[in-house]
Amino acid sequence: MKINDRFDKLVPNYLFADVARKTNAFIAAHPDQKIIRLGIGDVTLPLAQTVVDAMQQGCEDLRYRESFKGYPEYEGYDFVREQIAAYYAGFGVSVEADEVFISDGAKSDCGNIGDIFSEDNTVLIPDPVYPVYVDANIMAGRRILYAPSGKENHFLAMPDRKVEADIIYLCSPNNPTGAAYHADQLKEWVDYALEKNAVILYDAAYEAFIQDDRPRSIYAIDGAKECAIELCSLSKTAGFTGVRCGYTVIPKALTRSGKRLHDLWYRRQATKFNGVSWPVQCAAAAVFSEAGQEQCRRNIDYYRENALTLAHALDDLGIYYTGGHHSPYLWLECPDHMSGWEFFDYLLEKAAIVGTPGDGFGRCGKGYFRLTSFNTHEATQEAVERLCALLR
Ligand SMILES: *Cc1c(COP(=O)(O)O)cnc(C)c1O
Repeated sequence: MKINDRFDKLVPNYLFADVARKTNAFIAAHPDQKIIRLGIGDVTLPLAQTVVDAMQQGCEDLRYRESFKGYPEYEGYDFVREQIAAYYAGFGVSVEADEVFISDGAKSDCGNIGDIFSEDNTVLIPDPVYPVYVDANIMAGRRILYAPSGKENHFLAMPDRKVEADIIYLCSPNNPTGAAYHADQLKEWVDYALEKNAVILYDAAYEAFIQDDRPRSIYAIDGAKECAIELCSLSKTAGFTGVRCGYTVIPKALTRSGKRLHDLWYRRQATKFNGVSWPVQCAAAAVFSEAGQEQCRRNIDYYRENALTLAHALDDLGIYYTGGHHSPYLWLECPDHMSGWEFFDYLLEKAAIVGTPGDGFGRCGKGYFRLTSFNTHEATQEAVERLCALLR
C-alpha cells in the first residue's frame, strides 16, 4: 500500500489558523477592546424567507408517503435546472437546462472536475487565487503554471501565447482580489483557449455582485461554449454556505478527442455522487423565483454597501486597491511597503481590525491585504473611522 505522496507537495496553509491565533492572543491581552472582523470569508446574513419556506415545504414532502422523495437524479431535478437556464437568459446568456448539473457546491466541483481530465495536462492558474484550484491539482499530480497578476494588470491575469496550457482556471469576480474581467479581456482568454485546444474552468461564484456590463458568465463570450465549463454556487449569492448547493454548466458543444465533456461529467457524477437533497433543491429553486431573487438581491446589496464604504475610505486615503465595486472583497496594497503580516499586526494592534494577509493566496499576494464586506454596516463604518484615523 502506498499513500498519495503528492500530499507532501501541498504547501501547508496556516493562514487562517495564524490569523485566529494572533486574533485570540490580542483579545486575551486587550479584553476591553472591541475587535472588528473584516477577514470573514463567509456570508453573515440569514437565508431569504422564501428560500426557508421552500426548504420547509421540501421537508414536509418527505413526511408523507405520497410526496416522499428518494434518490434524486444525479444531475439535479429538471425544474431547478430550468430555473437556472432562465436565470442565465435573464442576463442575456443562453444555456440549455440539460447543460446544467446541480451539485453540493462549487468547491467540490472545482476539485472533482479534474476526474474527466488526464493527469498529464498542464494547468494554468492565476496568482493570487482561491487555493482550491492549486491544491486539487497538486493532489492529482498535474503540472501547474501560474499566470501572474499585479498592479500592472490590475490583478487580472491575461494569457501569454508563449505559455502552453491545457486546463485554465479563471475566477471573476476574483477571490481574493475582487477584480472582475471585462468582455474584451475574457475574449482574449477564450481565443487563447481555442488556439491551445485548452479548456477553461470558469468560477463565477461572485457573478451576482457585478453591477455594470461586465459578463456575468463566460458564455457571454463568442466561442466560450467550445472551450469553457462554468462553475457557480448559491453560497455567496444566496447565503447557501451552510446549506450547500451549486451548479456546473457543461455545454454540449464542448468536445475534446471526439467526446462530449458533458457526457464524461454525467458519468463521473453518476459514479461518485448521488445528488442534492430534495429540501435543498426546493430551496435552490426558490432562490431563482421572482421573490427569491428580490430577497437575495437585498442581502447582496447589504454587503455591497459595506464594500463601497470600505472602497471610498481607501479612495480617500489614496491606497491602491482592486475589488469592492463588483465583489464583496477589497484587495489593497499595504501602506509603507509593509508585508501582509506586518500590516496585519499593525491593524490589529493599533485599530483592533482583523483582515487577511495576501501572502496566503499565492506569490503575487505578497505586500497585499484582503478586507471583506461580510459584517454589519455599523461595524464596517466603525472600521472605516479607525482606518482613516490610523492611516491618514
Ligand atoms: C466561496 C467560493 C466558492 C463557493 O464554494 P461552495 O462550495 O459552493 O460554497 C467557489 N469559488 C470561490 C472562488 C469562492 O470564493
